[in-house]
Amino acid sequence: MQQMTSRRAFLSARFRQEDGLIARPPGAIVQSFAELCTKCGDCVEVCPEDVIAIGTDSFPQFQPVDEPCTFCGDCARACPTDALNIDRLTEWPWRAALKPESCLSMNGVSCRICQDNCERDAIRFTLLTGGRSEPGLDASLCNGCGLCPSLCPADAIALERQPEPEMEALQ
Ligand code: SF4
Ligand code: SF4
Ligand code: SF4
Repeated sequence: MQQMTSRRAFLSARFRQEDGLIARPPGAIVQSFAELCTKCGDCVEVCPEDVIAIGTDSFPQFQPVDEPCTFCGDCARACPTDALNIDRLTEWPWRAALKPESCLSMNGVSCRICQDNCERDAIRFTLLTGGRSEPGLDASLCNGCGLCPSLCPADAIALERQPEPEMEALQ
């Protein structure tokens, strides 16, 4: 348990934007989340993939560790207020964002962890000279499950909030 908590703390920066915006559970209302969430923790308790945790701000945060969100909706259904709502589940705006310069493969070290674990086949590599290869993301395939940011050993992937997410990618 302690090990999981430390890992979560280590990874937490991958689930927030540089401007500080934090990924909340699927179905979260954006503007008034902190006003509507009572910090009851019900969403954390019901998540079968254990991808929600109480953050340092005492509110639930989306923080996958080694498992993806399946968008089952259990968290939104369990929420007693409108902080999370099942009707907003398909509005999930977060998607993987690559930082290729940090990728091990870009630096000549063989790694395909992100590609090998993406069930949606959203990450492909382009061979470069010198035994290097560059990862690329097909944003139309990524559903923002959060798995690859948690697995990358080089901090080369984060989740970023998209202004106009590709809703159909969740289907
Ligand atoms: S949608 Fe399901 S898997 Fe995803 S955070 Fe909510 S309860 Fe967990
Ligand atoms: S898991 Fe990270 S380091 Fe490995 S190939 Fe993917 S982006 Fe590069
Ligand atoms: S976040 Fe996107 S690219 Fe990463 S494993 Fe999930 S679907 Fe694939």
